[in-house]
Amino acid sequence: MSEAVAEKVAERFAELYGAEPRGVWAAPGRVNLIGEHTDYNDGFVMPFALPHTAVAAVSPREDGVLRLHSEDVEGGVTELRLDDLAPESDKNWTAYPAGVVWALREAGHAVTGADVHLASTVPSGAGLSSSAALEVVIALALNDLFALGLRGWQLARLCQRAENVYVGAPVGIMDQTASACCEAGHALFLDTRDLSQKQIPFDLAAEGMRLLVVDTQVKHSHSEGEYGKRRAGCEKGAALLGVDALRDVPYADLDAALARLGDDEEVRRLVRHIVTENERVERVVALLESGRTRAIGPVLVEGHASLRDDFRISCPELDLTVDTALASGALGARMTGGGFGGSAIVLAEEADVDAITKAVTEAFAAAGFTAPRVFEAVPSAGARRVR
Ligand code: ADP
Ligand code: MG
Repeated sequence: MSEAVAEKVAERFAELYGAEPRGVWAAPGRVNLIGEHTDYNDGFVMPFALPHTAVAAVSPREDGVLRLHSEDVEGGVTELRLDDLAPESDKNWTAYPAGVVWALREAGHAVTGADVHLASTVPSGAGLSSSAALEVVIALALNDLFALGLRGWQLARLCQRAENVYVGAPVGIMDQTASACCEAGHALFLDTRDLSQKQIPFDLAAEGMRLLVVDTQVKHSHSEGEYGKRRAGCEKGAALLGVDALRDVPYADLDAALARLGDDEEVRRLVRHIVTENERVERVVALLESGRTRAIGPVLVEGHASLRDDFRISCPELDLTVDTALASGALGARMTGGGFGGSAIVLAEEADVDAITKAVTEAFAAAGFTAPRVFEAVPSAGARRVR
């Protein structure tokens, strides 16, 4: 994110509110390298931050008023009273930042109001977590402006609560933690049970590789039923197996666990995905730590098959992306994010990037799909103050 972007957002703030903002903050979207749908099963995930960010210019207020404006949404400034904020009362984009303020106040933090203007380069609804970027940038700004002294993982928890309770979307903790805690040149190995973290060096360019994001342009919506159904199925599996969360089923015990689930085929499939996916995250971490980066390709492909066949959240556009990329020489590829659309990632040798991009674009055209948006994902910095 450039200095010019921060300046532009600050200037627009001044136009809207008639005074300079107290500061400007940025928080990124994310791509998940591996570890899908594990975050609400207390499992492992491995996201990294994108260069795409939500940028917010913010000033504090003391009169219990919250004013919100987004460059990316039609309409003017929305004015809310903090005392009126109530869960699931708002079906607009303003529920995300208002929810963060609500969650902070609910947790006892003295936030007394704010003026906010924001602009984001994170594509919305593309599985790249524009919602978490929006939440985290507000949380970080308020943390600084009201001197709350909260750490990144604590802000992530509050943002998750905002999205779960205030917005009403039953999301896990990965997206917010990624946006708050990722570091440039690294992927974040995160244990979602206790939020313990390890930064894993992930600098593909130095090794002659690239990671492409293919945004299929198929819009998903987390709030819709399928995500909730998977979540409920995972909880049912854990209950049937007598564990707190599927995280507690060791990979070595998978066959025995599946046998105990009897003929509930759907729950068996969900359990198999979660248990094998946690093992894949651990395998990817081990490979990256031992410098065998190219060897993660097949693990990504296994992950895609598991999401397609066991978890059943892929779609024709995502499958076509993965199949075409692999047929054109990619080292690995898989859908990423919540599923039913959104984006896929492709790991490739630098020399193969153009051919893969062309092949995927042509395959979409031949299938009559909307043209995909392909871009390179460079592991970037997490949330920070930029002005
Ligand atoms: P994702 O997080 O995968 O992009 P979500 O459905 O979780 O998708 O979040 C998308 C929602 O976040 C949008 O519908 C909108 O309400 C909000 N949002 C994202 N970016 C912006 C923005 N720049 N300005 C206003 N609202 C935004
Ligand atoms: Mg989201």
